[in-house]
Amino acid sequence: MSWIPEWLEKNPAPKKQARPVGVEISYSQLRCYLECPWQFKLRYKDRWRSAHTPASSLGVSIHRTLEAYHRSHGASLDELQQAYEECWVHEGFPDPATQMEWYRKGEDILEKFFEAEKECESSIEYLEREFFFPLGPHMVRGIVDRIDKRPDGTLEVIDYKSHLDVKTEDEVKTNLQLLIYGLGAQEGMGVEPSWLSLYYVALGKKVTVGYNREAAEEVLQLLERVADCIALGKKFPAEPSFCVSCGLNDRCTMAVL
Ligand code: SF4
Repeated sequence: MSWIPEWLEKNPAPKKQARPVGVEISYSQLRCYLECPWQFKLRYKDRWRSAHTPASSLGVSIHRTLEAYHRSHGASLDELQQAYEECWVHEGFPDPATQMEWYRKGEDILEKFFEAEKECESSIEYLEREFFFPLGPHMVRGIVDRIDKRPDGTLEVIDYKSHLDVKTEDEVKTNLQLLIYGLGAQEGMGVEPSWLSLYYVALGKKVTVGYNREAAEEVLQLLERVADCIALGKKFPAEPSFCVSCGLNDRCTMAVL
């Protein structure tokens, strides 16, 4: 990933004697800091929250539904739709009609997921599994949506996506979130993943690549350097190129729109 060495060069490591006390870092925090360090400060230090949107509520509802369905060993579409009704997040909709429209979208997504799962020959080994592993003075944490064991015994780390912005295989190979989850499985859970997948539930489609430990090592360097920057906490510059898509742009005084 050519941009990682460049980023590390622009953000040099602290001197040994200035080594910071450790912080906990997750993929969401890493992404937030890389998008805009000021956004990181607002979200994780000042505790600002973005309001739910229809898309974010649907995403959370689908994630919760899939976890509840698999944990209860559901085996029918009716059970899946029942879990959906129970896990539905009501926030973020301007009126009941819009909420119903999004609820129906979710039902269609789950039908596609159910059909795709019929073809799946793997068994589920872990669901919504939390991991931690130390990195220098810091601690990396995360939650993996799912790890499957394939018929040949190899393990596949899976992250569910409810949107339709499908990544190519090349993009998935360098996906920071999946590489961190691969590391989490290996370093935090003590299992050796062979595959990393983004599972587009709305399409019943997965994009799968081999787990590349070399790329993961590079991500470790990035994680540690970002954690150092956060722990030192000296500056959180605003990054205006991200303002248009930032969920805080209606309140942030540094926003450039
Ligand atoms: S609105 Fe812009 S400057 Fe403010 S936090 Fe978001 S990305 Fe950063």
